[in-house]
Amino acid sequence: MRPRGGHLSTELSTVTVDNRSVASAAAIGVLRVAIDAPLRHPFDYLAPAGLAPAAVPLGVRVRVPIGRREAIGMVVDRAEQPQVSVAALKAVRQVIDATPLLDSALMQLLRWTADYYHHPLGEVIAAALPRALRTGAPCAAQVEWWRATPAGRDAVSATALHRAPRQQALLERLAQTAHGLSSADLALQLPGWRAAARVLLQRGSIERLELDAPAEASADAQPARSHAPESGRHAPALSAAQSAALASIDASAGSYAAWVLQGATGSGKTEVYLQCAERTLARGGSVLVLVPEIGLTPQLVQRFRARLAVDIAVLHSGLSDAARLAAWRAAHSGRARALLGTRSAVFAPLPQLGLIVVDEEHDSSYKQHDGGCRYSARDLAVVRAQQCGVPVVLGSATPALETLHNLDLGRYRGLTLPRRDDQALAPRLALVDLRAHAPHRGLSTPVIDAMRRHLAASGQVLVFINRRGYAPTLLCTACGWIAPCQACDARMTVHRASGQLRCHHCGAQQPLAARCLRCGFEVKPVGQGTERVEETLRELFPDQALVRLDRDSAARPEQLDAILDSVLSGTARILVGTQMVTKGHHFPGVSLVVVLNADQGLFSTDFRAAERLAQTMVQVAGRAGRERDRGEVLIQTQYPEHPLLRSLLSGGYAGFAAAALIEREAARWPPFGRLAVLRASTRSSGGALAFLAAARQLAPAAAAVRLLGPVAAAMARRADRYHAQLLVEGAERRPLHRFIADWLPQVETLARAQRVRYALDVDPIDIE
Ligand SMILES: [Zn+2]
Ligand SMILES: [Zn+2]
Repeated sequence: MRPRGGHLSTELSTVTVDNRSVASAAAIGVLRVAIDAPLRHPFDYLAPAGLAPAAVPLGVRVRVPIGRREAIGMVVDRAEQPQVSVAALKAVRQVIDATPLLDSALMQLLRWTADYYHHPLGEVIAAALPRALRTGAPCAAQVEWWRATPAGRDAVSATALHRAPRQQALLERLAQTAHGLSSADLALQLPGWRAAARVLLQRGSIERLELDAPAEASADAQPARSHAPESGRHAPALSAAQSAALASIDASAGSYAAWVLQGATGSGKTEVYLQCAERTLARGGSVLVLVPEIGLTPQLVQRFRARLAVDIAVLHSGLSDAARLAAWRAAHSGRARALLGTRSAVFAPLPQLGLIVVDEEHDSSYKQHDGGCRYSARDLAVVRAQQCGVPVVLGSATPALETLHNLDLGRYRGLTLPRRDDQALAPRLALVDLRAHAPHRGLSTPVIDAMRRHLAASGQVLVFINRRGYAPTLLCTACGWIAPCQACDARMTVHRASGQLRCHHCGAQQPLAARCLRCGFEVKPVGQGTERVEETLRELFPDQALVRLDRDSAARPEQLDAILDSVLSGTARILVGTQMVTKGHHFPGVSLVVVLNADQGLFSTDFRAAERLAQTMVQVAGRAGRERDRGEVLIQTQYPEHPLLRSLLSGGYAGFAAAALIEREAARWPPFGRLAVLRASTRSSGGALAFLAAARQLAPAAAAVRLLGPVAAAMARRADRYHAQLLVEGAERRPLHRFIADWLPQVETLARAQRVRYALDVDPIDIE
């Protein structure tokens, strides 16, 4: 949610729209500047004194006065006539960049994003830039440089410095060179030089400069793979299906085409990406590869570095600001011709873009969901490919229903990779009826027996449970008290390893209580989480090495890498994990997959829950199956007759998807209709609902659009705010967007008056 209004809008009221003066003003020429603020329109500014507006390129950053403060914005347009009275116009204070920071192709994508998601352009641009660039850092990497001043050169021979040998040495060293030395050079030559430099700088003996770094000297936080042995670049032979896919994608080079590369884990999708990338690079194009948030492992990065004979930049949310800036600069300058990144990398600058790959395109992490512009990086990748006239490859074992629908319509083209080992050896799926086999601490007897069998046959076992922590509930055995989150309509999850109770919705945490906070009696954890399943399995299989993979055990990329390594090397025999295990990792040694709680999500109010569950199940099941042996998948459930489980069992993902698409069409849900959701939250209960009801009243009449709600969110109170939503549905995209464009400014005014936080989400993936 984006805070709206407040002091910023009051400051901005000094710049008011005055149509009368626009009509009478002579053509004066203004720059339109998009500012990182919740404002629908760019602002008009005069060019800096002495510069014609035409002399300021579009896509450069400028410092501008706004109210009583200063902001950094981007020049997005020029105009003959200002939209405001001439008297209110102010001038740009400084033009930061000499050349555009964003080229016209990227600006086109950002404009499209702002229009489609009905989000202020200034905020969209800001989201596309590393923080350092938003605050005015130079576009090119710079190096710190030191040079002796004329006064300093004169002082070299003076005796004044004889008592300060470090200063003397530094000054002598600098005076020997005409152009001076960089900090990096000095650090090598004169240890402890910086303290001396400070004194000399104060005295005026030396000066400090910032120069644009030569391309090869700019520091990249992710060191470029310089010259790996040729053997590392050796491309394995392709299967017939891989070769066919490669040939098809490659034949579309230089023009827009959207390819859906459908293949199970281990079918060799990454190899197709790699060889497509190699061919694109060989033609002089650059390559953008998007991966899900968790999928960007050091292993994957290494694999690309080992194979592609170019510098590769990496962008993800875990980077420091400096590393993010370095990666962005490397891509922007054309030095890194391949970029691997998560969601926001869809906006990365890449001159000569020739290919876009979206791996695991169904993954929900491609959708921005927590504040800001709620874009889908997968969808924007397709738009970018279209705008740039290049192919885009959407890879997945379980494509989103939207993607399959686009295939049906002929908008996308399909490519299929069978499992490399053998399609006939797809894993056997079976349900374990928990009504007949009561589980003990989450595990039923058939599951434990199967585990023993597979471990004895030296297979690995993956146990999937989509809940981290020790137990989802802490219960008082005397009075029935359940540890609640103070800020949400939710229970606290027990995290025994860290001795905490944590709320998985707002992040609140407190020490794990040993006694009931109401009656003082003993409390006990109820239900299963990954930590507890790990504990149980260690008791049942004391001789088997076990690792756990969830957001707690793999908080850092190195931890994730170590866990994956132990499974891949075979050291770990049992892997307990959450959804993280499904993110594109292939475990060839796993012969048995156990799904402990399939039932979560079978009865959700969200029409997308079934799709997500089916994808998770198929992705988890896809981990089973050794190179030669047939894998086994056991799904524990209370509802073995549930249609979703039946369609998965009989028809696999394709069977499920066909049935689900028929249901969606009957209900006019996406992809057969268009959807947006207006979400709101307030501190008072009922405030959000009242706001949305009022917003509904403001809606212009539009026959092609249906409003549903408002309703309270499934979890109405979250992080001490009350949440509600109003659905906007339309059969066609254009009328729906026209309606939103008319309606949203009024909603905005209302929200400001009522101090409500709200956000519009176009193509939402979570309906509560
Ligand atoms: Zn109690
Ligand atoms: Zn909470």
